[in-house]
Amino acid sequence: MKLILLGAPGAGKGTQAEKICEKLHIPTISTGNIIRAALKNGTEMGLKAKAYMEAGQLVPDEVVIGIIKDRLKDDDCKNGFILDGFPRTIPQAQALVDMGIDIDKVIDIEVPDEKIIARMSGRRVCSKCANSYHMEYKKPKVDGVCDACGGELVQRKDDAPETVLARLEEYHEMTEPLKGFYDKLGKLKVVEGQEDVSDTTSLVFAALED
Ligand code: AMP
Repeated sequence: MKLILLGAPGAGKGTQAEKICEKLHIPTISTGNIIRAALKNGTEMGLKAKAYMEAGQLVPDEVVIGIIKDRLKDDDCKNGFILDGFPRTIPQAQALVDMGIDIDKVIDIEVPDEKIIARMSGRRVCSKCANSYHMEYKKPKVDGVCDACGGELVQRKDDAPETVLARLEEYHEMTEPLKGFYDKLGKLKVVEGQEDVSDTTSLVFAALED
């Protein structure tokens, strides 16, 4: 199954992607994680993306489209994949069409802005493996330490409050129009994000079977 997870930054796409990945055994492809890894490794692409990312702005379409084109060629994508954080603009969605990729479903996780702002302030990511946690909703077993690899948990620079507002604004302007794009194609499933992560997961799984 070829899936897209849509939703504002902080709506819980990454967490739900993990659950779908466990259930369907297909990889999650997160452009944000790929860019953060490139940044950490100091590659040319990472350097290009750095300023945009730290300001909470979208990285130019041609950069992320290039990333996705390369990644989807990998063997593990043969039986499907979950796109988390891509596409984020109409030209990015159009690029998937032009690549001949037929998306089965687009799951849009809806969370009001006020809740997103509250959630993002508690979000922490592993500085080693990029697993994500929340100080209230998805606590690690040991405070400040990644369950998976023991790495230190840190707040992403782009989760700082002023950057979150910029990212939300950009989401409404550039990414929300994708709902109409996929609705017209009959692929859009809307899920209301719940307080409890597992309740959202149940709704997401129901949407997958719908
Ligand atoms: P994320 O981890 O998905 O929230 O992405 C973090 C940051 O990476 C975003 O705020 C953008 O700067 C950049 N980014 C990730 N995916 C995309 C995309 N599809 N288009 C443009 N920028 C992206």
